[in-house]
Amino acid sequence: MARRKLIAGNWKMNGLFGEGTTLAKTLADRLASAGPVGFDMLICPPATLVRTVAGLAAGSPLLVGGQDCHAKEKGAHTGDVSAEMLADAGAGHVIVGHSERRQDHRESDAVVRAKAEAAHRAGLVAIVCVGETREERDAGRAEEIVARQVGGSLPEGADGANTVIAYEPVWAIGTGLTATAADVAGMHAHIRRELEGKVASPGEMRILYGGSVKPSNAGELMAIGDVDGALVGGASLVADDFWAIAETCR
Ligand code: PEP
Repeated sequence: MARRKLIAGNWKMNGLFGEGTTLAKTLADRLASAGPVGFDMLICPPATLVRTVAGLAAGSPLLVGGQDCHAKEKGAHTGDVSAEMLADAGAGHVIVGHSERRQDHRESDAVVRAKAEAAHRAGLVAIVCVGETREERDAGRAEEIVARQVGGSLPEGADGANTVIAYEPVWAIGTGLTATAADVAGMHAHIRRELEGKVASPGEMRILYGGSVKPSNAGELMAIGDVDGALVGGASLVADDFWAIAETCR
């Protein structure tokens, strides 16, 4: 089955009401008037904007997601947001295991897996992030680390309909550095092999690349066989840049 490309924007902790709604509306309008395009477009605003942005996106093909969720459905977890709450606000996807969560909040593979399970429980597509640090790559351990993350972070029942993997080398996130096309091709093929025997129909699971994707490098990256789209941080905050990245998948 051909995998349709997914261009996902991670706004991180950016977006007050005015700028967030303007950005979301611009993208929803462009997508609605573009006719059939060869890609899916997803934006993941901060939790405070999910309901508003989902309302703006209604009636257009623009997809909306959260950036993280708690593993539990509800309870005494001050400040956390459950997958059910995101779904209730209109999200259809949620990012789990982003390296900023793995680092800043010490999230282990087991925690990420529980969050992905929660996403599935709530009917959300989990975007499970994996990726090695600079030190791990320099030590020749990139494939080993990513294999461990894939094996440890994917829950039972993960398949191409409910789960997307995002390969994001930590050293490339927000740094302007990108992995070479050869490294990306090699890692995505490695991840695809790791999925064999772990998930049903590994050929159907989308594997996104993330790490300083911008209009100038997106064409080369999106042309790589096993790259099924992009997870974009900084460039997703500028409508023209995010749109230009998506256009490379047309
Ligand atoms: C990200 O946050 O997932 C990301 C890839 O950020 P950037 O595109 O800014 O490197």
